[in-house]
Amino acid sequence: MKRLNYWSDLLDLFFPHICLVCGEGRPLPEEPICLHCLASFPETNFHLHTENALTEIFWGRLPLQSGAALFYFRKSGLIQSLMHQLKYKGQKELGVFMGKYYGNQLRESPFFQSIDLIIPVPLHPRKRRQRGFNQSTQFGIGLAEEMQIPCLDDCLIRKQYTSTQTKKGRWARFENVEAAFDLHRPERIQGKHLLLIDDVLTTGATLEACGLNLLKIPEVKLSIVTLALAR
Ligand SMILES: [Zn+2]
Repeated sequence: MKRLNYWSDLLDLFFPHICLVCGEGRPLPEEPICLHCLASFPETNFHLHTENALTEIFWGRLPLQSGAALFYFRKSGLIQSLMHQLKYKGQKELGVFMGKYYGNQLRESPFFQSIDLIIPVPLHPRKRRQRGFNQSTQFGIGLAEEMQIPCLDDCLIRKQYTSTQTKKGRWARFENVEAAFDLHRPERIQGKHLLLIDDVLTTGATLEACGLNLLKIPEVKLSIVTLALAR
C-alpha cells in the first residue's frame, strides 16, 4: 500500500514528476525515465558478443578489443526522443542515468573487464559552452560511477568547429578527420586500455578519428561503447 505523505503528494499534484522521454509516464522517484519507456527501449545486447554490428563497422578501420552500443536508434522512435532531450533540451542527467544503466550491464560482461580509463568524444569548446555540457561526458560520468573506472574528459581535444553537424553533414566530408582532434598530456594514457565513448554512432568517422589519435600513444588498447547505433 502506498505510504501517505501529504506534502510530497501535494507537491506532486502541482509539479508532477513526468517521464522525460514519453512525457506521460510517472518514473520512480529520483529517476528521469518511466519503467514503461525503459522496458520498451530497443536494447542490442552487443555487450554479450565479441563480434556484433558495432565492431563490424570498424573492421579494417580501427583495431578494437571490444565494442558495443546499448540501443538501436530509429528515427521517430523512443531513442530519438531520449537523444533530443539529452542534447537539445538540456536534460543532462539523462546521460548520467543511461551511463549508470549501461555500466551495470558492462560490469557483468566478460569483454569489458580490463578497461583502465573512459574517454568521451569531445565537443569543440565553443559548442560545449553553447550547450553547457558535453552529452558524452555525462554518459561517461554514469559509466565511471557504475564501473568504478575513472573518466578522463580533457585528454582528447576537438580543434575543428562544425556549427550544425547533424544538419550540415558528416565528418566523412572532411578530407582528414584525424586532424580535427588532438591529445592533451597523452602520457596519462600510455599502456592503458581505453574505453572511447560517444552518444550516437552513425558513420563511425568521428570515433575512428578519435581512436586513431589515441592509438598513436604506445601500448594503448582501444574499446568503444556508444549509447545508440544508428544504422
Ligand atoms: Zn516514459
